[in-house]
Amino acid sequence: MKKGTKLYSILKLKCPRCQIGNLFNNPGLLVFSRVLEMPVKCPHCQQDFKQEPGFYTAALWISYPIVLIIFVPLIILGFSLDSLSGFFKIIYPFIILLSFMLQIPLMRVSRAILLNMTIDYSTKW
Ligand SMILES: [Zn+2]
Repeated sequence: MKKGTKLYSILKLKCPRCQIGNLFNNPGLLVFSRVLEMPVKCPHCQQDFKQEPGFYTAALWISYPIVLIIFVPLIILGFSLDSLSGFFKIIYPFIILLSFMLQIPLMRVSRAILLNMTIDYSTKW
């Protein structure tokens, strides 16, 4: 993945401005503690991550359509489970569990998308 693109910053959960500092205190997409704990500023370029009070409330509106894209086909698949083969009937509960495990990465990626919508990559800081 090419550094300097918004996709790099979003998927690697890096600061949108320098793309070196981590967005979260506990880095990584799949973590189980301190899930939404972010530093106030980027540890590398000092970019402010708390731009205004309630800034990350807007991240809910970013994650909502992503959740719909994932869960609506799963719900439709669940309703048509009787007509599917036995293999899908067995694997369906595991798909549901796996999709619930996506919640933490989804919350983190939504925050990264929101920050990338307001902050651009720069080499001058
Ligand atoms: Zn930075």
